[in-house]
Amino acid sequence: MARIVRKKPFIRKRPCQFCLSKQPVTYVDYKNEEVLSKLVNLQGKILSSRITGTCAKHQRAVALAIKRARFVAILPYIGTVKREKKVETVKEEAKKVESVQSENN
Ligand SMILES: [Zn+2]
Repeated sequence: MARIVRKKPFIRKRPCQFCLSKQPVTYVDYKNEEVLSKLVNLQGKILSSRITGTCAKHQRAVALAIKRARFVAILPYIGTVKREKKVETVKEEAKKVESVQSENN
């Protein structure tokens, strides 16, 4: 009986962006929207460390910072929802149609 040996897919581990910085980061600032917005997906969920590459220590700090940022309304609790986009596009289309009609008249 031949055993089926599956090769593990090679995934290069991303280094932690906070560990890489020259000055060691011990506290992730909740007011730093630029950094935190990259660690959240479109739905406003906190991305896992497996995806972002942050180490366990910094992931804990990031999660806390994101939760604080949400509380002071720097980050949203809920991100963009597809339904909202559709409503917007329909409204925009209606406006376009109206503007075209007014130009013709
Ligand atoms: Zn780290």
